Amino acid sequence: MTDAALLQVRGLDVTYRRSRLRGGDVDAVRGVDLTVGRGETVGLVGESGSGKSTIGSAVLGLVPATGGRVAFDGADITQRTRADRRLLARRMQVVFQDPYGSMNPAHTVEDILAEALRYNLGLPAQEIRERVLRALDDVGLPPGAARRYPASFSGGQRQRIAIARALVMEPEFLVCDEAVSALDLSVQAQVLNLLARLKRTRGLSYLFISHDLSVVRYLSDTIVVLYAGRVVERGPAARVAETPQHPYTRALLAAAPVPDPVVQRRRRAERRLAPASIPTAGRSSEGCAFASRCPFAQDACRTRVPDLVDRDGVAVACRRRDEIDALAGAAIGAARTDRDA
Ligand code: ADP
Ligand code: MG
Repeated sequence: MTDAALLQVRGLDVTYRRSRLRGGDVDAVRGVDLTVGRGETVGLVGESGSGKSTIGSAVLGLVPATGGRVAFDGADITQRTRADRRLLARRMQVVFQDPYGSMNPAHTVEDILAEALRYNLGLPAQEIRERVLRALDDVGLPPGAARRYPASFSGGQRQRIAIARALVMEPEFLVCDEAVSALDLSVQAQVLNLLARLKRTRGLSYLFISHDLSVVRYLSDTIVVLYAGRVVERGPAARVAETPQHPYTRALLAAAPVPDPVVQRRRRAERRLAPASIPTAGRSSEGCAFASRCPFAQDACRTRVPDLVDRDGVAVACRRRDEIDALAGAAIGAARTDRDA
């Protein structure tokens, strides 16, 4: 089944069980569909608590799916055995935000990179050494880095080590969960460039997770926007990031800084339309989860969860999709008139 997408997530639900005392069960992810084609980068964006890491964890088999299906290279991997896990570790790897937390400070970089190769693949020492050096070279670190300890590197270099640790397994698929979020802007750009280059040279596919729309835009072919555990918009990266249709994606874009003062003014006005507040975690609600923050919500929005409807390649879950442009324009115009009066 080589023509199957590399990763297919269908109707994924993840509920975290929690006692009533601690607030009750949390529906972290609801009915999520997501496909990553070979060589494709799918960006998953949404604010903190929207369920991004939960989706990544379910794909990696770190949290169980409560419902739905995860398939990799055409094979259902929703219920993974220990043997599946080992096989999959060669093919899918992960890079997290804080690599330092997962690196034993008493181990050299070589040991850290070699660990999974020894444990999972049982390769001969010479091949392990070659793979480690190749991976370091691939992420722009000198061979001498192999003998040093994690503490002697900068944050950006440690993130390169984390990427190298994923690469030694020679995976096809990488989950990056906020992999550049802790880095300064200039270092962030370098690591993003590195990931883009690895995509070309190693033919990698990514599920690239970030709360930052501009970061996701830089690397992604497709963007999936998550709000309160559900996909609210999905489509080609340029279209979702530049002409978003869902009111939530519009709010995300409005929150991003822009150099153009005219655009900046329009976004500031649009930003005022949507109050920033984070939805409380718990059981999923009846209607659209964004309704309480949405400047365009009507009663009907609060009674039924809107379907994710694909039109011309962009899927949007908003029953007022067609009216938003006109409504936003009128609201911004009115806000400006109020201020100028
Ligand atoms: P994101 O990565 O987008 O910030 P997460 O996937 O981490 O979001 O979290 C989604 C929701 O699930 C949040 O409401 C969060 O509080 C909750 N959650 C995450 N992990 C757990 C857990 N282990 N137990 C209970 N709730 C959790
Ligand atoms: Mg997260």
